[in-house]
Amino acid sequence: MKLLIVDDEEGMREGMRRLLERRGHSVDTAADGAAAAELLGRVTYDIALVDLKLPGLDGFEVTQRINDREGNRTVVVIVSALATVEAAMEVTRRGAFDFLIKPFAPDELMAVLDRAIRQRQLIQERETYLSELNQERSLSHQLINTLRDGVVVLNVNHKPVLMNPRAESMLGVGFRDDLSLSDLGLGDSVTAMVQEALNAAGEGAYRQTRVERPDAVLEVRVIPWVRPAESPSVIVLLGDVTEQVRVEHDKNRFISMVAHELTSPLAAISSYLAIVLEGTLDGKTEKLKEVIGRSKTRTDALLELVRDLQDLNRREAGRVERAPQRLDLRAVLREQVNFYHGPAERHGVTLELEDGTEAAVMADRGDLDRIFMNLISNGIKYNREGGRVSLRIERRPGEILVHVEDTGIGMSPDEVAGIFQEFYRAHNPQTQGISGTGLGLATVKRVLAACNGRIDVRSVPGKGSLFSVSLPAAP
Ligand code: ADP
Repeated sequence: MKLLIVDDEEGMREGMRRLLERRGHSVDTAADGAAAAELLGRVTYDIALVDLKLPGLDGFEVTQRINDREGNRTVVVIVSALATVEAAMEVTRRGAFDFLIKPFAPDELMAVLDRAIRQRQLIQERETYLSELNQERSLSHQLINTLRDGVVVLNVNHKPVLMNPRAESMLGVGFRDDLSLSDLGLGDSVTAMVQEALNAAGEGAYRQTRVERPDAVLEVRVIPWVRPAESPSVIVLLGDVTEQVRVEHDKNRFISMVAHELTSPLAAISSYLAIVLEGTLDGKTEKLKEVIGRSKTRTDALLELVRDLQDLNRREAGRVERAPQRLDLRAVLREQVNFYHGPAERHGVTLELEDGTEAAVMADRGDLDRIFMNLISNGIKYNREGGRVSLRIERRPGEILVHVEDTGIGMSPDEVAGIFQEFYRAHNPQTQGISGTGLGLATVKRVLAACNGRIDVRSVPGKGSLFSVSLPAAP
């Protein structure tokens, strides 16, 4: 231990020093209050043995200094003559730990010192414990404050006693002393769960529900919190599941749309097959061929649908390997236009590309093919005999636009509003007999979203449509 002896009698001072050093302590000495004060300004002592009667600053004042500096962490033992024993007791009442009456035997000094050492150890243990506790507190505080979940602690009377910032922002309520559970707007079912949790405290199980708020869906978990000798509390954890609910909802909608889209061609194929099996067309080769031909058309459309679905699914799951690279859009479009010349001719449609200077974009080749295949084939499909599909590249700062314009059947504003949704197909006399899956433009939209592009449409019924694709220009 680090010890300080303050005594003006040299013999006494040195005698004590020898005894204590023999016990393995490190000892400093001071002959008067001023010297003691100087040492106390530099060194922190575990124990100080202070003579009450000192020249200059007396023992009272030295003890006062020690307590002011160290806040009772240094254990002070007052050493005094019999004549001043009352004063020594007074100092002890005011903050010294113990006192020792002169003259004393070495055993007496050691007994007092042992008690002082024990006291010093207790103080150290308490300090360590407190600092650990503080660290734990600040750790849990930090954890709670940075959690992605909202945390609200309710006492036995359902009163919020703690809320983390996330809970405040999720619920749109700031924590204050007079807050009640109903102010949190979690509804009656959560209140009931809180009561259940308080009743069942100790059983540990938690209760869970979803609460729909105007702007979000929250997953609420109510957990009993039992501590010995304290009334039970409840921890309410809040998770924002808005996005998850939206995805689930979209997925369910998608599945029912797929089922719906598969049903009608399959039902048609099944009824054609039933006609063949009935035998009423036996021997009528031409009729048979016609029915089988219709079945084939329906089957082909189904295959196309399934392929589009697979493609959509692969993209959704991120399973399409994409490798953006610097590509000349003009070259890509030239290839596409060459590829679609045959189909365009068969539809009696002219397909042309206004060829300009190089237009470099950063994109995946597969993505570009997907986008323009769909737009060009739609331009041909939804056109008229003698019509035209023309592609034009426009450069703008930071982006390249490709305009795909046709002189086809066009669309009403209502139709335009639906075309990027999965399975949407405009149903009107002009589109009757044109096959498709309603997945092409939905895929185009997704592909563009993945490569930071966008698409705009302008269309006039009976006149034609203009699809404008924007892609980020390569630096
Ligand atoms: P699909 O062509 O397989 O039906 P798309 O997603 O490519 O599916 O298109 C959705 C719908 O948008 C089409 O069914 C059609 O009604 C309309 N449409 C798309 N492109 C054009 C176009 N160039 N002109 C007129 N209508 C179009």
